[in-house]
Amino acid sequence: MYNKHGLIFKTGDIKKGENKMTVTIEDSCIACGACESICDAVFSVEDKAVVNAANVEANKDAVQEAAGACPVSAIIVE
Ligand code: SF4
Repeated sequence: MYNKHGLIFKTGDIKKGENKMTVTIEDSCIACGACESICDAVFSVEDKAVVNAANVEANKDAVQEAAGACPVSAIIVE
């Protein structure tokens, strides 16, 4: 939210537990398999990588590692 000076301030409505990690794969994926080798609970690779969203929360660290390891930066973590 913006105040009259255009600055962002917190509204306090972001509650703990609501900041769930979401993972998407961009079209630039080259199906190299690196993400699957790091975390096969979340990533599986056929024509392109796909995400098993149900397993993301339990594997956050590995998801971040996979995102960092992706050679084309196709793994978007939000
Ligand atoms: S590491 Fe990146 S390029 Fe490789 S399969 Fe996974 S998303 Fe695709």
